[in-house]
Amino acid sequence: MGKSSKDKRDAYYRLAKEQGWRARSAFKLLQLDEEFNLFEGVTRVVDLCAAPGSWSQVLSRILIKGERVGRAAWEDKRYKEILRLRESRDADTQTIKPTEEQPPSTAPRQNVKIVAIDLQPMSPLEGITCLKADITHPSTIPILLQALDPEYDPAASSIEASHPVDLVLSDGAPDVTGLHDLDIYVQSQLLWAALNLALCVLKPGGKFVAKIFRGKDADLLYAQLKIVFESVTVAKPRSSRASSVEAFIVCTNFQPPKGFKASLDNPLGAARKLQSKPRTTRTQPYRKLRDDGINELELGSEDEGGEDDADDRWIAPFLACGDLSAFDADASHKLPEGHVSLDPVQPPTAPPYRRALEERKKQGGAYGKTKLGEVS
Ligand code: SAM
Repeated sequence: MGKSSKDKRDAYYRLAKEQGWRARSAFKLLQLDEEFNLFEGVTRVVDLCAAPGSWSQVLSRILIKGERVGRAAWEDKRYKEILRLRESRDADTQTIKPTEEQPPSTAPRQNVKIVAIDLQPMSPLEGITCLKADITHPSTIPILLQALDPEYDPAASSIEASHPVDLVLSDGAPDVTGLHDLDIYVQSQLLWAALNLALCVLKPGGKFVAKIFRGKDADLLYAQLKIVFESVTVAKPRSSRASSVEAFIVCTNFQPPKGFKASLDNPLGAARKLQSKPRTTRTQPYRKLRDDGINELELGSEDEGGEDDADDRWIAPFLACGDLSAFDADASHKLPEGHVSLDPVQPPTAPPYRRALEERKKQGGAYGKTKLGEVS
């Protein structure tokens, strides 16, 4: 598919280039922010699986430069619409309507720290510390904490100093194979790694937003998240194709159980489980630290019938988000008059598929004489 036809088929791909975003994923975060006001009161953010960096760009523009994008842009638009409606009504009735408050102006925030992590190198971005690291590896946590605070000393630092983060984002995705079950499985492993990392660094009250592929066991994940976060919602931004299994979990108000100590050496979902007492209602999973002080969290209980018990499931609310006037990610769009297709703002610096592309080119293009698998 040529650049221009991709512009037509994918409005967000075209808009990303026009507005200077490194990837169309920027719109997913902006639309999530419209709905959830993600950045309110936030100054310390970790962007996991961040390359090529469009989510980090959103963070930089909102938190560091104070630009009115995302929620603020949506508020401005809504305010203008209210003014327009009020003017036309006043012209009709000559009555004075109650005033709608003007959205507060934004300014660059003080003391902002943003760390972006990816396996791939990322081109620098103003105000963002970029780390090339694996989010599944325990050594990443102290490196991350030191990037947030150069004074951080793992041996001497307090609990507060090792949990300084207001918001953890994860847009992690493995290289998709097209085999749905395999892709969902690998993606869920990445999501668990992101969650375990988030549990290690989030401060109480913090937020966690992560990409998920909705598989058949997703509701079990939601129930587990509900034990450590007060609110868990599954959101689908308009810029995420309806045809894709992708969605985002938005978890707010992190409430670690008393005595709970997260660790990437011994992550949840491996040896440890989420420990809770039998629930009284289907919609209210809850937790309790064991009397012997063991730091485990578990859903349901053996005397309730084990893992297959339907009561162990908790269905998270599902929310479509993004302004209704926003582009439909699955539709083809008429290109504006005189449209000139632009180059991507920032192609990935070292994509894992680069070698495959080079080999394919050497073999004479996509349908070259030699199959990729036969290239030595
Ligand atoms: N949010 C990014 C943006 O807005 O530009 C796009 C992220 S892209 C969909 C997924 C990223 O996950 C890739 O850059 C990939 O390198 C990264 N990734 C996959 N596994 C990872 C891991 N174990 N540790 C760190 N990053 C990982």
